[in-house]
Amino acid sequence: MAVFACAGCGAELTAPVTEVALPPHAHREGGDRYLPPLLEPGTFAVDPEPSERPWQPWAAITPAQAAAQGVYAPVDGLWSGPGGAVLLAPGDTRGTALIPEQCDGCCASAGGPNLACERCGRTVGARIDDCYRWQAVWLYPQAVRRLPVAGPARPAGDGWSVAPTPPLDPLGGWSDRWSAAVGTALAEVLAASGGAPVAVVPGLLTETFGRTLQRLLPAGAPVRTLGLAGPGLAPEPVPDITLVPRHPWTGAAWQPAPGGAVAVPLDAGVWTYLAFPPVRPTTRLPAGEERDDPPPLRPYRLFEPDRHLLRHRLARLPAVRQPWLRAIYDRLGDRRHHRAASEGTP
Ligand SMILES: [Zn+2]
Repeated sequence: MAVFACAGCGAELTAPVTEVALPPHAHREGGDRYLPPLLEPGTFAVDPEPSERPWQPWAAITPAQAAAQGVYAPVDGLWSGPGGAVLLAPGDTRGTALIPEQCDGCCASAGGPNLACERCGRTVGARIDDCYRWQAVWLYPQAVRRLPVAGPARPAGDGWSVAPTPPLDPLGGWSDRWSAAVGTALAEVLAASGGAPVAVVPGLLTETFGRTLQRLLPAGAPVRTLGLAGPGLAPEPVPDITLVPRHPWTGAAWQPAPGGAVAVPLDAGVWTYLAFPPVRPTTRLPAGEERDDPPPLRPYRLFEPDRHLLRHRLARLPAVRQPWLRAIYDRLGDRRHHRAASEGTP
C-alpha cells in the first residue's frame, strides 16, 4: 500500500492505494460517450513506458536507440523522458487543484498538465474528464514521491478469481475493454502464428480473434490452433497458442503454460468470460407475451480490436523484425486497411 506525495512540498496527494497492473485499455482512445473511472477506487497502476518530454520524432531516432527503448518497428516518435507515471481513480486524489487554463478537452480536460498541488502550486499531473475518455488522474513521475504506508500490500486471495467482463455494453455495443484487451493480445497471437493460418473454435473467440486473424494471415489450411487455458480450464488437446489470464495485480501471465503451447496473456476479466461464459436463464414468458421479453441486444457492427493498441504492442515485440510480421504491421498502419476493416471487409 502506498500514498503519493508532492515532490516539492511533501503534501500527501492521494489516499492510501494498492498497486494493480496497468489495464490494457489505459491508453485506449475513443470509445463510448461516457466512460467510468479507468481504475477501481483504492488502487493505482504504474506505466513503465516513458511519457514525459522531450518527444523525438522517428526520423531523429536510430534503430539501435529505438531497440534500447524496446521498440522494433517505426512509430511516429517516442517520449524520451522518465517512465513511471502513476494512474489513479480521480476520487483517490487529495489536496490537488485544477489549473483551469490547462483544461484542454472538448467538454472539460483531456489530459494536459492541469493538476496542481494545492499547497505549493507545483504541477503534479493530469486529470482526464472528457467525452469519449476514461476518467483518470495521471501523476507525473518526477512530480511525486511514493511513501509506504501500513496496510496489506494486496487484497485477500490469490487474485485469479475475477468477475467476467461482458463483451457488450448495456446499449448493445462492443465493450471498449474487450476491444483493448483483444487488440493487445492479438499482437502476440500473430507473432506466435509464424505467419500461417490459425484455426479458432467457432463462437465468441472467432468473432473477436478469429476474424482479424483470418484477415491478416494467408488463406489456406490452418497450421496452428488457438484456444484457452488457465485456472480451472485444462484443454485436451492443448492448443498451439493458448490465451491465459493476465494477473490483475501483477500483469504476469498465468503459470504454468500448457505443455508445448505458446502462452499469450489476456485481460483476466475478458479471459474469464471466454472461459466460463455466464449461462442465460432458460425460462421465458408464455407464448404470445414474448414481445415483453426481447432477446438480448446484438451489436450493430462486427467486433473490431483496437488497432492502435495492436500496433503499439506489435512494435514492441522483437518478432516484428521478421519480414512477414513487419508486413502485417505496415498493413495495419495503412489507411486503406482502416477503411476495409471498419466496413467489415474480410
Ligand atoms: Zn506541493
